[in-house]
Amino acid sequence: MAGTIDITSAEADDRDTDRAIDACPTEAIYRGVDGNLRLDRGRCILCGRCPLIAPHTFTWRYGSDVAGFTRRSIVVGEHVETEETLREVRADLAARVRRLRRSVHLRHIDTGSDGSDEWEVQALTNPVYDLHRLGLFFTASPRHADILLVTGLGAHGMTAALRATFDAMPDPIVVIATGVDAISGGIVGTGYAVSGGIGGLLDVDVWVPGSPASPFAILHGILLALDRLPDRTETRR
Ligand code: SF4
Repeated sequence: MAGTIDITSAEADDRDTDRAIDACPTEAIYRGVDGNLRLDRGRCILCGRCPLIAPHTFTWRYGSDVAGFTRRSIVVGEHVETEETLREVRADLAARVRRLRRSVHLRHIDTGSDGSDEWEVQALTNPVYDLHRLGLFFTASPRHADILLVTGLGAHGMTAALRATFDAMPDPIVVIATGVDAISGGIVGTGYAVSGGIGGLLDVDVWVPGSPASPFAILHGILLALDRLPDRTETRR
């Protein structure tokens, strides 16, 4: 779905909020060292329990602009990175993708998922989302690809294939982790057969939360990576 969970009161300290923390199946909500709440969208599987248990603390937010340039930037309540740091990350990525211009090719790779993320990726080419109108195309060959769109929780059996695909791509390579499985391993997390996401396998440029990430959220992540969206940190100044 095109939505995410927000914290309405970071300092909430009551029994309902504690119950919501206990009920979260992926430990996506927790208290930081400052005692304030954090909500890790990279781990949230959107089960909907926290807004039901503590509606004064957690709420649904509808919209697709959930992607971020860093792992920390998709943790609600985390203020480790300044806007300046994020602008630097964005400028670095923008410099890398500048020469891609208006025709960009994506290689999608599933590193072990339940298939839901793949349905959403596939939907990008239908007439509703119509990826092609933006000059974006899927390609079967990594040698023709500019963006590596990765879904799945980084199964060990797919590690070599993921690396081989990445190594076969020409520079500049942009890596997008799509969905909480690719970001953190989702409900499975880490285990004997999985890496708990692809962050430890490749350098990720854009993180797209969601379980699964909606087509518009994926599109937002791709356009963010290609520097085709306004810098909201600029417009806030
Ligand atoms: S909606 Fe997300 S944060 Fe809330 S309980 Fe479910 S998984 Fe945890």
